[in-house]
Amino acid sequence: MHIHVRDLLAEETGHNRTFAIEGEQPKTLSLVLTQPVNGEVTVTKLGDKQLTVNGLIATQLQLECHRCLRSYTSDVEAEFEQIYAVSPGEDELPITDEQIDLAPLIEQELVLRQPIKLLCQVDCVGIPGAEEYLTKGTF
Ligand SMILES: [Zn+2]
Repeated sequence: MHIHVRDLLAEETGHNRTFAIEGEQPKTLSLVLTQPVNGEVTVTKLGDKQLTVNGLIATQLQLECHRCLRSYTSDVEAEFEQIYAVSPGEDELPITDEQIDLAPLIEQELVLRQPIKLLCQVDCVGIPGAEEYLTKGTF
């Protein structure tokens, strides 16, 4: 999910361009995507060798319910703003070979948006008998 930013880097500060994201399938390390990523990002020249990326994307994740341990899918959206720099500082991502890679940004944003407790449904009853097992130590 690379965007070429050579032209944008040559522009004046404040200049921006919008890119559509359609049917992208980024390689993610810690998430399983069950739908391609769609959305839009706007890349703005921020300063010397720096860009800011604003975006909104939607996809679907495969998650595991914390209560019943079954897999389920969940539609997710992420809105984000991120600085990319040729010499990235803390919390900034690199501009490499006049390109920015959106995949790590999108993965990071989707991970950050996970609820602490993942449930396949609000009233998931969990594994039958598990509660008893936990309190009595036997089924
Ligand atoms: Zn469940």
